[in-house]
Amino acid sequence: MQGPRPVVLSGPSGAGKSTLLKKLLKDYENVFGFSVSHTTRQPRPGEVNGKDYHFVTREEMQKEIDAGEFIEHAEFSGNMYGTSKGAVQAVQAQNQICVLDIDIQGVKNIKKTELNPIYISVQPPSIEILEKRLRDRKTETEESLQKRLTAARVDMELSKEPGLFDLVIINDDLEKAYSELKEVLLEEIKKTEESRKS
Ligand code: ADP
Ligand code: 5GP
Repeated sequence: MQGPRPVVLSGPSGAGKSTLLKKLLKDYENVFGFSVSHTTRQPRPGEVNGKDYHFVTREEMQKEIDAGEFIEHAEFSGNMYGTSKGAVQAVQAQNQICVLDIDIQGVKNIKKTELNPIYISVQPPSIEILEKRLRDRKTETEESLQKRLTAARVDMELSKEPGLFDLVIINDDLEKAYSELKEVLLEEIKKTEESRKS
């Protein structure tokens, strides 16, 4: 493995992973790089192909999976998602900390690889608050919202498994959650900043 230790952010859809990640990428622009996943879901307004995701068809994605180009992939809420080898290599080539935003199946599959990341789960204070956040985000249809809530219940249960995550952050107050995230990453941030100076 090259470069600094990657970071996995997981947790239910709507828990606040992207919000925390955007803050981190903004505050430490050169330190972190996002692993741009592939997905077969439709882009949301404002999402940019190649930046937020590589938006692809099921056929395109399956072909690349069959060619062995993915580290992990999973079916989530009716769509395929996956991390390509290229996505992680592109960040590591810049000597940046690679951040992966993946679901719990992805976490279990990454554990079988050599990647050796820091595993962090972002959890909502309650399923009711999660539902409100997802509804207020206005990105889901009623059907996809219900699928995400079902997946969220599974995630909230499975993420209690001892040792699965290095840290579980309850994202109630955003600033507090962000401080906890920064604190656990502080050592890796310092190391990366130092190595980038030399
Ligand atoms: P995820 O990436 O985990 O699916 P998002 O980052 O998109 O979740 O967050 C879901 C919604 O909740 C967004 O509209 C976001 O602005 C909001 N949100 C995130 N964190 C908080 C928080 N601590 N308090 C209130 N709303 C939040
Ligand atoms: P969304 O559609 O809200 O962007 O993402 C839905 C879920 O898919 C989230 O839990 C997110 O973490 C997960 N996800 C995004 N990219 C990947 C990926 O490459 N692999 C896996 N396993 N899950 C992903």
